[in-house]
Amino acid sequence: MIDVRRVQSLEPYVADQIAAGEVVERPASIVKELIENSLDAGAGQIDVQIEGGGVDLVFVRDDGHGIVAEDLPLALQRHATSKIESAQDLNGVASLGFRGEALASVSSVARVKVTSCAVNSDAGAMLEVHGGNQLADGPAPHNVGTTVEVRDLFFNTPARRKFLKTDRAEMRQIDLTFKRLSLAHMDVGFSLAQAAGHAARARQLSLAAGSIEQRLEKVLSADFVSQSIQIDESSGAYRIFGWVGLPAHHRRQADQQFFYVNGRAIRDKVVGHAVRQAYQDVMFHGRHAVFVLFLELPAEAVDVNVHPTKHEVRFREARDVHDFIFGSLHRALRNLRPGQALASDEPQVIAGEGHATSWNQATNDQKPPQQASFGVGAAMVPVAPSTGGPPGGLAQLVNEIAPQWTSGEGGGEQSEGMPPLGYALAQLQGIYIVAQNAQGLVMVDMHAAHERIVYEGLKQELEQTGITRQPLLVPHLVSLSEADADILEDAHAQLMDAGVVIDRTGPGTIAIREVPALLKHKQIGQMLEEAVADIVAFGTTREIQRRQYDVLASIACHGSVRANRNMSINEMNALLRAMEQTENAGLCNHGRPTYVMRSMSELDALFYRGQ
Ligand code: ADP
Ligand code: MG
Repeated sequence: MIDVRRVQSLEPYVADQIAAGEVVERPASIVKELIENSLDAGAGQIDVQIEGGGVDLVFVRDDGHGIVAEDLPLALQRHATSKIESAQDLNGVASLGFRGEALASVSSVARVKVTSCAVNSDAGAMLEVHGGNQLADGPAPHNVGTTVEVRDLFFNTPARRKFLKTDRAEMRQIDLTFKRLSLAHMDVGFSLAQAAGHAARARQLSLAAGSIEQRLEKVLSADFVSQSIQIDESSGAYRIFGWVGLPAHHRRQADQQFFYVNGRAIRDKVVGHAVRQAYQDVMFHGRHAVFVLFLELPAEAVDVNVHPTKHEVRFREARDVHDFIFGSLHRALRNLRPGQALASDEPQVIAGEGHATSWNQATNDQKPPQQASFGVGAAMVPVAPSTGGPPGGLAQLVNEIAPQWTSGEGGGEQSEGMPPLGYALAQLQGIYIVAQNAQGLVMVDMHAAHERIVYEGLKQELEQTGITRQPLLVPHLVSLSEADADILEDAHAQLMDAGVVIDRTGPGTIAIREVPALLKHKQIGQMLEEAVADIVAFGTTREIQRRQYDVLASIACHGSVRANRNMSINEMNALLRAMEQTENAGLCNHGRPTYVMRSMSELDALFYRGQ
């Protein structure tokens, strides 16, 4: 016989430890919670100190509004918060915290001391709680603001302590958490000091309030600002702004991708997918883009109460959000054109340097930088989208474009008369065009550049003439789950726009009757499968279009000038002019650069001239 076990309430401290597991995964989670509390308290300066990878000590001090002495014990209790009052408030949470469980969770698995002095109180107070047990309290001196010290993480739950990584790995996580939060609050000053433990180096990072450019450079990289374009786009209630790295400024890891929704750093598959697609045509295979982007939308349009760590959100209209992000980034990226190099000593003014302006205001009245230099030493400038597709064949190219510049007017692209990519001097080894422009030397990979021009031309043609559909003689039958079939059926208008005509023939069968002409020999079933997966996850798909682009790309590759073909100066100049007018011309279809530029001063440096 099995004994019946009775139901009983857990001791509060056991419940706290269980709950703590969700909030406090590792030291970096504590850093996040404490900094968020400081931000919610309106701090202007937040100082963080770390010892032993955050296991020995996490110390966070702020100059925010503080905690009233009598409230201290409550602040460390679970489900006690000053940020929301009713379930109603959950629909439009404006603060970073609201669940009222961070301090309680942390103090159930570590030794916590909170010292605070509230605005308008005469004296500070402190409270110390070790593993859920209150040890000490009383008056304590403190400036207006709060200090939280967390020591000996998991001292009472050794099993969890074993799951921690090395100090060095924990430090890296803390560093990333700190940086991620700092980017979303440019108007707040931050400092992070990580003391050297065994085998760990001491590190110090301090970020002054209001200095946006400096912060981007310290958090991402020294050249991030010059290697990115600034965007700010709105549509209806949505706004996206921030910096997107130029496609050539890619990284091996996706570790510099900062995305915020209403000021909260999030990881989200809808967002990730939209961004990846925007870079799809221009990113080198297997590499990752770099960006800092802020999406703003009405608080009701997004649910932040999905997960205790609030890393995830849920969008009410995932498809709209996806399309908005994709559209904004795609436009920004495709409007890059080969342009003038940035004078390297010309500082780029981003905004409100040195002023503690609010981040939103600071970005509102900024225009995107006029110029942004390009990763391979060349430069790109954002321009208005061009109309009229570039021609396909090289001969046609010469005819249409050559007269503009052979007249000696330089085509009038530039006031000085010298077009951005200059004029061809010679062909090198049948592969490269050597040209000179106003800045110095330009070298172009003929095949890569021509391939991109033809590809973009074909894409534009497809967009302008619309997709030609081809009826299948025998409809292609696809069997799938009933739920997936429902989804596809609901998306039939969207599929029709993409050139696919479907029709439901049974609970779990769909007949494909027409497909885009370009794809008639391709594997339709697999394409549809991937489209369904997209539509289920993101409400939208670009899979069908992507596959057509793949076909166009291979047509472009075969139709482009091959290496070792002799080109006349006229032809080479025509190619340069076409590049200047082509979307994404700085990168070939596989994300490799099509040209590099070396300024005279860079060339002089090679020869130690003037030194
Ligand atoms: P939440 O942030 O979700 O409200 P926490 O457990 O993180 O929950 O904090 C509980 C409460 O303690 C907060 O609602 C706030 O009133 C107070 N508090 C915590 N940290 C600070 C701080 N640095 N400055 C001022 N008040 C704080
Ligand atoms: Mg909190």
